Amino acid sequence: MVLTTKSLKPSLSWGQLLQQSITDPVELLRILQLPLSLLEGAEAAWQGFKLRVPRGFVARMEVGNPADPLLLQVLPIAKELDIHPGFSYDPLEEALPNPIPGLLHKYHGRVLLTATASCAINCRYCFRRHFPYKENNPGFNQWQQALDYIRADHSIKEVILSGGDPLLLSDAQLANFLQRLEAIPHVTTLRFHSRIPVVLPERITSDFAKNLQHSRLHSVMVLHCNHANECDENVAVAMATLKHAGVTLLNQSVLLKGINDDVNTLQTLSERLFAIGVLPYYLHVLDKVHGSAHFYLSDAEAIALMKQLTAKLPGYLVPKLVRETPGELNKTMVI
Ligand SMILES: *Cc1c(COP(=O)(O)O)cnc(C)c1O
Ligand code: SF4
Repeated sequence: MVLTTKSLKPSLSWGQLLQQSITDPVELLRILQLPLSLLEGAEAAWQGFKLRVPRGFVARMEVGNPADPLLLQVLPIAKELDIHPGFSYDPLEEALPNPIPGLLHKYHGRVLLTATASCAINCRYCFRRHFPYKENNPGFNQWQQALDYIRADHSIKEVILSGGDPLLLSDAQLANFLQRLEAIPHVTTLRFHSRIPVVLPERITSDFAKNLQHSRLHSVMVLHCNHANECDENVAVAMATLKHAGVTLLNQSVLLKGINDDVNTLQTLSERLFAIGVLPYYLHVLDKVHGSAHFYLSDAEAIALMKQLTAKLPGYLVPKLVRETPGELNKTMVI
């Protein structure tokens, strides 16, 4: 399939589109022609963790469907306020002090930088919903400390920009970071963990793609997409742009009750991703964060689903079922 970037070129910049994101739950429900009663008792939930969703993502939701799988990922509801034993505010224990602000060096050969404080979308199941981003964020001008750390440790081959969402940085900021990273000889790979190519695909500008294309570093984009309906034509165009620039495209999803917890949905997601040039990488079991218990599936349920999925798809379209465990040296396979 050949896609031209020109035909779908948006008239607004990605920054303007971002600014026009929906933050008012009432407006969201009006657009979708849904009853405001869905918000009953939910006010404290959205006060604690705001609604935020780009209009382009809302346009992929089905009007009149209160169980739309994209809507359920962003709409604050009263159930988030329920207390469940075992669900905590910091399931990954990331609030522990980091030696360098914004730098996590837990896994061999790779460091993860939390590059920004916010995201283009607020996902209700997010394990970072209570994470003290602000205090932990290096900020663009304080990256020197992180870069010094990377330069001093020759075992580090790959630098992962995560967040928040690293693609909220401007093209100029990212180009500057790329240049400084390229100057460290033992670093070979730059990886992004970003939900933006899916929720705000207009962010994948030709400047951004060119910078990656011309870099000596390998670049990897790990998307975050949970349902095939998230991948519309604009996302396909963004993937074509990245692919053309030689970027390796992978996806991670979170297994979410009521959203993607059946084999057909997961199969369709993998096939849709493949059709736009992306391979499934990880399927995460939910981190037990306060406010997300209604999305939770047990390991036994997750494993049963994976068995069905493995029977239906070629091996390269089956994501690895993983969880993050504090103190472990890598993501732990659940199967
Ligand atoms: C997930 C993660 C990574 C990357 O792990 P991969 O298995 O290489 O995808 C690196 N550092 C941290 C802190 C992580 O959470
Ligand atoms: S985009 Fe990622 S980090 Fe941001 S709220 Fe969603 S799941 Fe969390």
